Amino acid sequence: MNKRDYYEVLGVDKNASEAEIKSAFRKLAKKYHPDVSKEPDAAEKFKEAQEAYAVLSDAQKRSQYDQFGHAAFQGGASGTGGFDFGDFDFSDIFGDLFGSSFGFGSSRKSSNRATRGSDSLMRINLSFEEAVFGCKKDIKLDVYSECPECNGLGGHGKKTCSNCNGSGTEVVEQRTMFGLFQSRTTCHTCNGNGYTFDSKCSKCRGTGKIKENKTIEVKIPAGVNTGNRLRLAGKGEAGSNGGPNGDVYLEFIVKEHPLFERDEDDIYIELPITITEAVLGAKKDIPTLYGNVKLTIPAGSSSGDKHRLKGKGIENVNNKIKGDMYVILNVIIPKKISKEQKKLFETLNNTNLDPSDENKKIRKYL
Ligand SMILES: [Zn+2]
Ligand SMILES: [Zn+2]
Repeated sequence: MNKRDYYEVLGVDKNASEAEIKSAFRKLAKKYHPDVSKEPDAAEKFKEAQEAYAVLSDAQKRSQYDQFGHAAFQGGASGTGGFDFGDFDFSDIFGDLFGSSFGFGSSRKSSNRATRGSDSLMRINLSFEEAVFGCKKDIKLDVYSECPECNGLGGHGKKTCSNCNGSGTEVVEQRTMFGLFQSRTTCHTCNGNGYTFDSKCSKCRGTGKIKENKTIEVKIPAGVNTGNRLRLAGKGEAGSNGGPNGDVYLEFIVKEHPLFERDEDDIYIELPITITEAVLGAKKDIPTLYGNVKLTIPAGSSSGDKHRLKGKGIENVNNKIKGDMYVILNVIIPKKISKEQKKLFETLNNTNLDPSDENKKIRKYL
């Protein structure tokens, strides 16, 4: 799926101020809020704007987005690419947009509407190897399930609401400056459910769901990296009025390796070699993620020379293609040498070791 650029979604330019972003979002929210909008794709548009605003109004997320684009928030691991609103508070925007001044009666926002539970985010620490090769982790979380006491109903002794005869709505009369008005609104006795209970379920306190702290085993795929997210569908907060549970996102924090440096799916290591190895060439054992390999250093190597070990990098979490490993040479100049070594260097110094063009250039100015 092609995601639109967040700036494009809000119709602002890349260096828009916080105030411009907020005002752009308010305009879109007014236009597309599903409770008011008559546009056919309002819900989609509204969600898109919400997501763009959640990112661009947060300085840290905005700079991540500027650097990496949508990839910054993609849960590559699960392939779902979920964006998490769980910890984002829109209330300061909606409070004044759709607060009492907007004039919705209670008939519009009935409290019995099925609502999806909110998402939550958990950070999981992984060792370098766990992230590279995948692993299984026991995760402790609160899981919401149907209350066994009331079978998820929330009460005992279910009966048709006597106030609305099961319709869930009632007619109220309102006296206004224009006269007496009748309007249909949510039944205040049953909250629109159409039924009531003799007694509320004490085990779930009427919610129909109970919270249990459970340990679940999660399989973490090979190749994840810091910031990647894995979605555990339905393991989030309980929904209300029959709405589905939210999701839990696991966000990974991967520990650094003492030797291997990771860049996406590639691995870098620095290999110290002696001056003679650099000049004469050598064969060196190199540790990789998949066991040792022999690397031939050609004669005449220099510090910074880069050797690629194809396919010795990390398996990509999505396409399963392995990255490469790079060995960067670092020629070590000895600080302490023995008498014998000194003699050898002096002998060497008496030979013509200085044929380079660079030196000719300098000599011209001496
Ligand atoms: Zn009722
Ligand atoms: Zn119950």
